Amino acid sequence: MSTKSILIKNGYVLTLNPRREIITNGSVYIENEKIVEVGKTKALKGHNPELVIDAKNMIVMPGLIDTHVHLAQALIRGCADDVSLVDWLKKYVWVLQGNFTKDDGRVSAELCMAEMIRTGTTSFVECMIHTRYGFDGIAQAVEKAGMRAALSKIIMDSTGYADSPDIMYPGMVEEADACLTETDEMYKKWHGKADGRVEVWYGLRSLGAVTSDLFRDVARRTREKKTRMTMHLGEVVDDVRYVKANYGTNLTTFARDHDLLGPDMVFAHGIHFEDEELKVLAESKSNISHCPSSNMKLASGFAKVPKMLEVGVPVSIGCDGGPSNNTYDMVREMRLAALIHKSYVVDPLVVTAEQAIEMATLGGAVAMGIDDKVGSIEPGKLADIILIGLRGLSLTPASNPVSNLVYSGSGDAVDTVLVNGKVLMRDKKLLTLDEENVKNLRPKVIGTWSSTRVPEKGFKAHWALSSTPS
Ligand SMILES: [Zn+2]
Repeated sequence: MSTKSILIKNGYVLTLNPRREIITNGSVYIENEKIVEVGKTKALKGHNPELVIDAKNMIVMPGLIDTHVHLAQALIRGCADDVSLVDWLKKYVWVLQGNFTKDDGRVSAELCMAEMIRTGTTSFVECMIHTRYGFDGIAQAVEKAGMRAALSKIIMDSTGYADSPDIMYPGMVEEADACLTETDEMYKKWHGKADGRVEVWYGLRSLGAVTSDLFRDVARRTREKKTRMTMHLGEVVDDVRYVKANYGTNLTTFARDHDLLGPDMVFAHGIHFEDEELKVLAESKSNISHCPSSNMKLASGFAKVPKMLEVGVPVSIGCDGGPSNNTYDMVREMRLAALIHKSYVVDPLVVTAEQAIEMATLGGAVAMGIDDKVGSIEPGKLADIILIGLRGLSLTPASNPVSNLVYSGSGDAVDTVLVNGKVLMRDKKLLTLDEENVKNLRPKVIGTWSSTRVPEKGFKAHWALSSTPS
């Protein structure tokens, strides 16, 4: 729905402005794609908007920003639970993704975005688009869905940690020249397009899949284009061992030596940094995308988020993917980000509800380099705004909406979503994507599920699907 002027009124407005003001019975007035005025409802009476949205009993807040998303993994949700990371990748995830067609890539992106919009995410960083997923089709899907997205093309020139040819599933392997050429083409075609909502980034595959020369080349190209880059780093302790064995150093020195540090880098996970390395990340303003669900499910460890926040590392939050999370619900992710570190460092004071919200909004905007445009509700910023209902049983009484949002909430409570001043969901109904269609599409990869190397798909020994029709 395209509307020139919108008034959101009577809400509990979390502005996330520099003073972190909360406005009870507050209103936000929007013209075209921008926020014009924010204040008490009674103070914003002078407008004559085309659309009025009553936010009574709702939180009104900046849209959530997910800084680590695998769009292609929405379609393979549930394919690999309760297994080790190596099996997770080699037996399940890579095998399925390595059989994707461009249709699968587009369908998975739509499914993923439908879930993200429904649960309050307005912007995201897709970290790895393989050529076989169809970059162009995914960008078109983003344009149609109305979200704001950084789409990162996979860059690689090697096949894994050990350089062994069978390390990576063949369907996942790409050639460096083709990766770089496709990035150039997609950058020309899509960067800054769809009303400025789409950016094209570099998605460095991983340690062992990119050689030193290519790391440096990509860093140079990134700065030449004034775009950004992302890569998984320090997700597993083996990353530390690999870098020590191959480069004789630690993760941050490796990154510095390859020109990878800086505010234009988003490192996904960032678990296994030493304390002194956190200062290097803070000084270089390198971003960390913290993915608590994925880290817990794959037993990767605990990122040092309390310490990162203390020393000034820019931290944002990511849901990761369908088989590692297994949702793209940033409200649930905020909850985990606020909970798990308390237990890990045995201190209930670390990572407050407010800090979790800051990471999921402003932190994400910083990671995407768009904090001057989104991440808070302030006049002049783009209207990326969500409304979250507070009338659900698990949110009652709503005497402390901030606490309710982080500790009692889930994305199911999200009612309305705006991006760029355009309404993408109203009264829980998606307006840009056809939810039923998205749920019912049966793309090819599901058909090949049983014919790929995924023999153990299903249940553990004592659980079985009944063969008797009921
Ligand atoms: Zn990931």
